[in-house]
Amino acid sequence: MLLRFPTSVSEAQTCMAEGAVPIGGATLVWATWQRDGFPEQAMSLRELPEANGIGSETLGAAVLLHQVDDRVPEVLRRAAATVGTGAVRRTATVGGNIVGSTLRCLLPAALVLGARATVLEEDRSYQTDLAEVLAKRLLLLGLTWRAPVASGYRKLSGEAGGPPPLVVAAAVHADGAGRTLRVAVRDGYEVLSESTAWDTDPDRVLHALSGTDLGGLDAEAREAVREQVTEVLARSAGR
Ligand SMILES: Cc1cc2nc3c(=O)[nH]c(=O)nc-3n(C[C@H](O)[C@H](O)[C@H](O)COP(=O)(O)OP(=O)(O)OC[C@H]3O[C@@H](n4cnc5c(N)ncnc54)[C@H](O)[C@@H]3O)c2cc1C
Repeated sequence: MLLRFPTSVSEAQTCMAEGAVPIGGATLVWATWQRDGFPEQAMSLRELPEANGIGSETLGAAVLLHQVDDRVPEVLRRAAATVGTGAVRRTATVGGNIVGSTLRCLLPAALVLGARATVLEEDRSYQTDLAEVLAKRLLLLGLTWRAPVASGYRKLSGEAGGPPPLVVAAAVHADGAGRTLRVAVRDGYEVLSESTAWDTDPDRVLHALSGTDLGGLDAEAREAVREQVTEVLARSAGR
């Protein structure tokens, strides 16, 4: 297998055109390749500046999970910190987690930030939403969003080999005259994402959310949503 490290977008497009498969840290693909055979060419984005940004409103697809620190909003930082083990986080990338894994712990965090994805095709680079990235397994260069007023993330503890633990992400955004609260929940392998008008009273906000698909969650999940929403609303109130 030839592993290529493009240093520009046009070079990455050439690699794509020549059939190079994107990889991050290969934490997921390695076992599959050993079983099924290696591709002729693979491409890592780790030398590509456009895939390595990290800041309050941007995160590159080639950034390693352990590098996701307090430069990004709390919701993303906490999400990355809860993925797998320290060894996995030192090797796995943002792109591999969001596009390539089944658990996708970063996805609820990206959804509540309203993140837009920058993707690369052989002849163009463009912005789209995460739903399209996942449906088409597009080559992700990075995520951008508008910094939230406050955000938070919680992953319940799960049993090894059991179902994926519940994840709740929440963020308050200032939009024009008002504020909006976004909440995303990973329940099993399904991710629900809803939003409602911000209010200082958590009961009013939770009542509004109960009229969405989040109202269909079981009691334990609804309690986790209640706690996370209450905490994020409280932190947003003084800002
Ligand atoms: C022990 C262990 C525990 C784990 N626990 C968790 C957990 O708690 N939560 C969780 O969410 N995940 C968990 N994972 C999965 C982990 O997040 C993934 O292994 C990791 O995110 C994959 O990243 P990678 O960079 O190694 O991807 P790779 O293995 O390199 O690639 C995986 C797939 O993603 C594709 N890909 C990679 N980069 C891109 C890109 N930029 N654009 C498009 N496609 C791309 C590849 O083509 C490939 O199909 C765990 C994994 C292990 C091994």
